Amino acid sequence: MDGHDDRRLDVLITAEELAVRVAEMARQTAEAIECRETIAVVALKGGLIFASDLVRHLPDLRALDFVQARSYGAQTAPSGEVRIVRDVETPVAGKDVLLIDDILDTGNTSATLLDHLRAQGARTVELVTLLDKPSRRQVPVEPLAVGFEVPDVFVVGYGMDFAERYRHLPYIASLEAGEDRAKT
Ligand code: 5GP
Ligand code: MG
Repeated sequence: MDGHDDRRLDVLITAEELAVRVAEMARQTAEAIECRETIAVVALKGGLIFASDLVRHLPDLRALDFVQARSYGAQTAPSGEVRIVRDVETPVAGKDVLLIDDILDTGNTSATLLDHLRAQGARTVELVTLLDKPSRRQVPVEPLAVGFEVPDVFVVGYGMDFAERYRHLPYIASLEAGEDRAKT
């Protein structure tokens, strides 16, 4: 059954707040790494919108590429297993890599991607993540920059989905089942 009409979105982070913070994160990133030597790798699909805003604030980049891991299906619970379903095309051996991801939850997805890029011989691999749910962490991950810490709620928008919906939203919202929705 498709219950999407019964779900409620509550805005957590506005488009304006995202724009300010993403610009700050780009400054922080550019101070920490040599961007013109760096291959930025976007973790699809959730990191797409964040990355497109972030990289336009970076002074320079060597290359932009994409990787895709799958750890969630249409559910809101992690499966525990992470598979890489799309790999980078740019050779990263000996290169500096910046992984751009949407959210650190258990940490399994980002950790798997970071290990994968290191295993291809990258010289350095750093992570920039828009959101962090520290209370959920199972695997230690140390990002170069984090945009916002969020509580243990399921969030959508600004690239992040529920069953492929809501990625296009310009803000980040929590998604709640509709049972508690006030009918007015
Ligand atoms: P982890 O492997 O750290 O547990 O989960 C990371 C991935 O799970 C994220 O890149 C994202 O794709 C998905 N994820 C984790 N929490 C959320 C959430 O609250 N909302 C959405 N839409 N995806 C999430
Ligand atoms: Mg992701």
